[in-house]
Amino acid sequence: MKRISLYLLTASLLASSCTQQNKPDGTKALPRIAIAGLAIESSTFSPALTDEAMFRARVGDDVFSFYSFLNPDSSQRKRANWIPTLRAHAIPGGAVTREAYESLVGKTLTMLKDSLPYDGLFFDIHGAMSVVGLDDPEGDFIKRVRDVVGYETIISTSMDLHGNVSKTLAQNSDIITCYRMAPHEDSRESDKRAVENLLDRIENGKGKPAYKAWIPVPILLPGEKTSTRVDPGKSLYAKVAPAADQEGIVDAAIWIGYAWADEPRNHAVVMVTGDDKAKVTSTAESLANAFWEVRNEFEFIAPTATLKESLDMAIASDKHPFMVSDMGDNPTAGGAGDVTWTLAQILTRPEFKSADGPSLIYASIPGPEFVEKAVAAGVGGKVSGTAGAAVDARFSPPIQLTGTVTAIETGDASAETEVVVKIGSVSVIVTKKRKPYHRESDFTNLGLNPRASDIVVVKIGYLVPELYDMRADWIMATTPGGVDQDLERLEFKRINRPMFPFDKDMEAPDLSAQLIPLSGSK
Ligand SMILES: [Zn+2]
Repeated sequence: MKRISLYLLTASLLASSCTQQNKPDGTKALPRIAIAGLAIESSTFSPALTDEAMFRARVGDDVFSFYSFLNPDSSQRKRANWIPTLRAHAIPGGAVTREAYESLVGKTLTMLKDSLPYDGLFFDIHGAMSVVGLDDPEGDFIKRVRDVVGYETIISTSMDLHGNVSKTLAQNSDIITCYRMAPHEDSRESDKRAVENLLDRIENGKGKPAYKAWIPVPILLPGEKTSTRVDPGKSLYAKVAPAADQEGIVDAAIWIGYAWADEPRNHAVVMVTGDDKAKVTSTAESLANAFWEVRNEFEFIAPTATLKESLDMAIASDKHPFMVSDMGDNPTAGGAGDVTWTLAQILTRPEFKSADGPSLIYASIPGPEFVEKAVAAGVGGKVSGTAGAAVDARFSPPIQLTGTVTAIETGDASAETEVVVKIGSVSVIVTKKRKPYHRESDFTNLGLNPRASDIVVVKIGYLVPELYDMRADWIMATTPGGVDQDLERLEFKRINRPMFPFDKDMEAPDLSAQLIPLSGSK
């Protein structure tokens, strides 16, 4: 043990001696920048739990593969000595177990300790992780990172706009930003901006921005009402880039926050960082006020209806494919992904009972035992078994599926094995493990043609770009599940009150900027 710590001490002294100092030829040594992060959004309104195996963890140099802007030939890669530690993300789901959280954080901290010190740290999180028995996990995580790296290190935090920004996270982050688009077409661009700001502040010697304005905005809305494709989300988020591009401002960001967890930190936030105190403050206040002013204008971004109404419309429509979002169990928002309620309703409809009924693709339901049976039956074989409701059986029990196997695919990174079973005119995708169906190729790989299908039902909220582009018509069905879009049906006990839209007659809130102390100061 002693030898190891002596080695670590020597290593860190050696590392320290080259940090921020010049090389013998007078040129500046490259800064040392660590990368770490955990990303998941997890619903506490779902009975599902997320364990460590559900995270895709990249460790060491494998972390670079997540960031195309850090490929070996990129300019950013060449501007620092990078020390990637652990960067893990999981499909949204239920709360993360304490064991999984402690294990992933522990591994990260150990790796960070191994290569101290750092000029900078790129902290890449989602911001809506729920952990069993722990409030504000990202705040806890960054405090523990600070305990290891200290306060000389500039931390640049990059987040999803559906994350939450507690005061603890705000204080321990020196630079902080989030996506400006939902759907998140700018996710890597946002990460790149977080890294660019970090490199700039180290290279130009300005260090931590002098001011961080933080404004909690008492609004809690679902993502399906706050897309930046349509107003008011579109115009609101259009204000962010010009705000961030001002002289004296480093970055500006608006967080919608995450609606399916019940903690005091769950609400919208505006943050602006920079060196010009007056501009940082006024910019944050103007963004927060702009958000508050349009609060009543947020609507679901596509028509919504009950499932029965949605199916009636889809069957009667002459526009195909008619896409139906099965919203309540959307696994990419935190649903368990195995609620069988919607599929059960579909399979009882008489219109789909015979093979020449309207063609419908259902994506998807996990059922590992059913998949095994389908694989044994082979393509063309008959299969009968149950699937789903292993995690979330609150609305409907495991579903009996009896039909013909039309496809078997193995090797998918999320699903591992996928099968398609044809029941009447319905093609049901059953997976070994849950998987979101977001790409056309997810369907065509299984011999399904969503463009030629009459109806496509997907466990999703708003359509991701590839699905959106192929839809002829679309409705979002208000189905039950862990991410019920009707927030007023959920039982919040711990969020701050008053909160829009729960408290209809609330007074105008105080949206003046709070200046958060710099990291390391009181
Ligand atoms: Zn998001």
